[in-house]
Amino acid sequence: GAAPPLLEIRNARIVYDHAVEAVREVSLSVPQGSVVALLGSNGAGKSTLLKALTGTLALEDGEVEKGAILLDGEDLGRTPTDRIVARGVSLVPEGRRLFANLTVEDNITMGGHLKGAADLARLRAQVYDLFPRLAERRRQIAGYLSGGEQQMVAVGRALMAEPRLLALDEPSLGLAPLIVDQIYATVARLNAEFGMTILLVEQNAMQAMEIADTVYIMENGRIVLDGPAEQMRGNLDVQEYYLGFS
Ligand code: ATP
Repeated sequence: GAAPPLLEIRNARIVYDHAVEAVREVSLSVPQGSVVALLGSNGAGKSTLLKALTGTLALEDGEVEKGAILLDGEDLGRTPTDRIVARGVSLVPEGRRLFANLTVEDNITMGGHLKGAADLARLRAQVYDLFPRLAERRRQIAGYLSGGEQQMVAVGRALMAEPRLLALDEPSLGLAPLIVDQIYATVARLNAEFGMTILLVEQNAMQAMEIADTVYIMENGRIVLDGPAEQMRGNLDVQEYYLGFS
């Protein structure tokens, strides 16, 4: 048969503290080479799904109680984060989570901690190629950068692991429209030029729909609508739903 999708979430139910149902019943598929946007308002359960995907859920006493998260058709189960990174999944976390008092270069380098020393210089050069502004600021302390530059550092750090799947949690949060455009242009380029698969979690629906192939909308732990981005952009329900948010 056909190769399995790079990522598949099958009937996942995710709870915190054995009680709080953050994800009630979610299935979604991220084919190799695609851009998938997962949209929904605050508290819908989007970040919880990303934490489950990256193996960091247990840190918050969360658990996939039912269903499965499959990478290349293989159930991730309780695979530790480092193994998941090694298998090609990198996360750009919500709020960027940089080490504010380390330099730009140190922050970026941290994303390559599973790589050998010989690879680090090559990978950093790729990141600086993608974000020339970071090359200029490589010796600066990350905490002094603008929000947009910090987001670039967070993306660059994730790229150091040479992911096949790049997951971004609200990359546009708190950034000026012009900077958001730049970040999105870079994400689109990673997909088009380097064939990287993208899973984009956003509240900023309109922007995300523009670069996505497929869109899922999540509400209260469930997918309430999904389809090709083209179709969703013209969908009146979607437009109405998002009038209140954007
Ligand atoms: P946001 O955009 O705010 O991150 P989201 O769609 O990503 O929203 P989640 O952060 O996944 O939503 O939260 C989903 C639900 O799970 C919410 O009701 C939230 O209160 C709850 N929740 C999230 N993290 C925890 C936690 N560590 N412990 C208990 N409940 C949590």
